[in-house]
Amino acid sequence: MIDSQPRLSFEFFPPKTAEGKEKLLRVRDQLAQFAPDFFSVTYGAGGSTRDNTKGLVTQCKADGISVAPHLSFGGDDEATIKALLQDYQTTGVDRIVALRGDMPSGVGGAYQLVYANELVAFIRQHFGDHFHLEVAAYPEIHPQAKSYSDDIRYLKGKFDAGANSAITQYFFNPDAYFYFIEQCIKIGITQPIYPGIMPIINYKNLTRFSDTCGAEIPRWLRKALENYGDDEESLRAFGVDLVTELCEVLLENEAPGLHFYTMNQTEPTAQIVRNLGLIPTE
Ligand code: FAD
Repeated sequence: MIDSQPRLSFEFFPPKTAEGKEKLLRVRDQLAQFAPDFFSVTYGAGGSTRDNTKGLVTQCKADGISVAPHLSFGGDDEATIKALLQDYQTTGVDRIVALRGDMPSGVGGAYQLVYANELVAFIRQHFGDHFHLEVAAYPEIHPQAKSYSDDIRYLKGKFDAGANSAITQYFFNPDAYFYFIEQCIKIGITQPIYPGIMPIINYKNLTRFSDTCGAEIPRWLRKALENYGDDEESLRAFGVDLVTELCEVLLENEAPGLHFYTMNQTEPTAQIVRNLGLIPTE
């Protein structure tokens, strides 16, 4: 059991259909029992989910739920992004996850990605301190980073531009996170860096995604997961125990909270949070 109440947040991606949205709102209400500090809603590469992200965020605000939209410039101009931020401000949104994002698939070389530190600076320039700004961090290094030290230097650049805190890419090796935090402190980063937690739901999807996003599945874990074959139930049960232990180690060693990549599912995130004893007190 963890003593103090660490920050808790749950990430969703915006569903494409009205039916998917209804289903997700039920998941949201089930996870709301843990009184998270906020939910967050991702933003598709190139702004591809702009309307769906905004729709889900607006719905959450209308339901009195604390929610943070993810945002990147994507292919949009400054006026479009400013108008979107203005709408968010009017709706009562006060937290943004500010990202560079990735190149949408099928888009050629003419496409220019805007680094996250520039988006942070843009938001600070036009909206002052209204938004709490989260940025992304990579304990196992961003796949395009030139070096470990460059990547951390660019993370510091995001804080220097005005970010308040960071959420990490997921990882399964807690030492990667602890070493990363040490290196961040060494270069003067003082803001909190929240570990991103990926529940284990499906082996094939997890390995495919991990290979592209800069998250490592240790060899021993790959082998263990492979052994479950099509037995998804046993794989999930193993995953719950493994990820619970990871979270325990993180929280016992002063990680400031946990951000769950829920994959739009109540379980196994809810079971892990229950295992950790993170039940809200009055
Ligand atoms: P940046 O911080 O801009 O870094 C990108 C790369 O460029 C890194 O290799 C970095 O070392 C380098 N770099 C950074 N700044 C500079 C600079 N000023 N000059 C030169 N090089 C620089 N993707 C989505 O599309 N939608 C989402 O909703 C989404 N949510 C995410 C949430 C979290 C918590 C995390 C960890 C990732 C998320 N991603 C999302 C993925 C993310 O968009 C990709 O990893 C993307 O490739 C990098 O985004 P970033 O904001 O970290 O970029």
